[in-house]
Amino acid sequence: MSVGRAAFITLHACPLAAPGQGKSGGMNVYVRQLAAALGDMEMKIDIFTREHADVANRIETIGPNVRVIHLKAGEPDAHLEDLYALLPEFLAQLNVFREEEGLEYDVVHSHYWLSGWVGSRLAEAMAVPHVVTFHTLSLIKMQSRAGEVEQSERPVVEAEVMASADRIIAFSPHEKDAMSRLYNADAGKVSLVPCGVDLSVFRPLDQKAVRDRLGLNGEKILLYVGRVEPLKGLDLLVETADQMDSEGGVRLMVVGADVNGDREIDRVKQLAKERDLEDQIEFVGQVDHNELPLYYNAADVCVVPSYYESFGLVALESMACGTPVVATRVGGLSTIIQHGRTGYLKPWRCPDAFANSVEMIIANDGLQQSLGAAARKRAEGMGWDNVAAMMLEEYDMLTGQHASDDNKY
Ligand code: UDP
Repeated sequence: MSVGRAAFITLHACPLAAPGQGKSGGMNVYVRQLAAALGDMEMKIDIFTREHADVANRIETIGPNVRVIHLKAGEPDAHLEDLYALLPEFLAQLNVFREEEGLEYDVVHSHYWLSGWVGSRLAEAMAVPHVVTFHTLSLIKMQSRAGEVEQSERPVVEAEVMASADRIIAFSPHEKDAMSRLYNADAGKVSLVPCGVDLSVFRPLDQKAVRDRLGLNGEKILLYVGRVEPLKGLDLLVETADQMDSEGGVRLMVVGADVNGDREIDRVKQLAKERDLEDQIEFVGQVDHNELPLYYNAADVCVVPSYYESFGLVALESMACGTPVVATRVGGLSTIIQHGRTGYLKPWRCPDAFANSVEMIIANDGLQQSLGAAARKRAEGMGWDNVAAMMLEEYDMLTGQHASDDNKY
């Protein structure tokens, strides 16, 4: 029998928050899309998140079989660093809601370490399996870029949640290896299930028409999409443009808002100024998720220069639009992009290598088109329906396993 009802815990990443600003990004998109695809497959999903400042309704139905439930725990505008102390309150509120509504779940699926803390306790109390997707892991992040600091509880809780979970979802073989290497996780409990992409939204469009719509002229466009923060490596984007012979005719478009006031945008602007590139870089700000296909389609190349990405949804969205990607060979990006077929993977922090690849693509229409076509084809295998089917299989396997464990006693 297929799993019927799941509780998703996503304490700090409300699926209703607009991605690309504040802390809202790939995780918010993932939770919403995965839940929607599972809902389409007749699963009932309740997504529990913390009440935040702009909540319109405490309970919001966001699609067939999917609800978002905001629970009060602490002040709505509490900082991410303060949420650890609020976990017991959130769990208590969740249990109150569950009792009031008489809800039982077949599986609990948590997202991120904070939610993992809650999910492990909830699943234990209901005696159902606990599945966890970490999205990012502190020890990998801290190894990826000097200066990344994480609160001290995080690695400890991550290790505890890995030890107690019934199933851990990793986005890439790299992440799976790191879980064993850095956290001593049991590799037998780790399943690889990638992120997905909405193929009906992210699709190839006529490039000339979208450029006209965005008011762009004939310049070659290098696009960056994502939250603007140091881990995303925007300095490498500027250095890449600086290394290019054709630099004069290239425009860098940065889509997404700064995570921290304008701190990173100011730093990147300064770098661009020092290299005489300030007229070629444009900070577009946050763009509505459903409008992003215009930007991906207008671009010649999407550059993903991150120090680390556990998955890298932006790369997959660009590929689904048929726009080749040049990215750092890190984390999940090495899994999504097929080097030389759908884009290029470049060694970490090598602007020369990035510039070579970008120039090769923009100088050769045939290459740009063949990479773009292969990229779309690869993305077509990664629609949310496929990903949800893989996840459902994980849930089914676990609930079957739990049933047989119960029968032993
Ligand atoms: N995004 C968006 N509008 C923006 C910038 C980003 O909708 O202005 C979305 C983007 O489409 C992607 C997500 O934010 O789905 C970023 O995900 P990714 O995995 O690349 O990075 P993360 O935020 O998880 O670090």
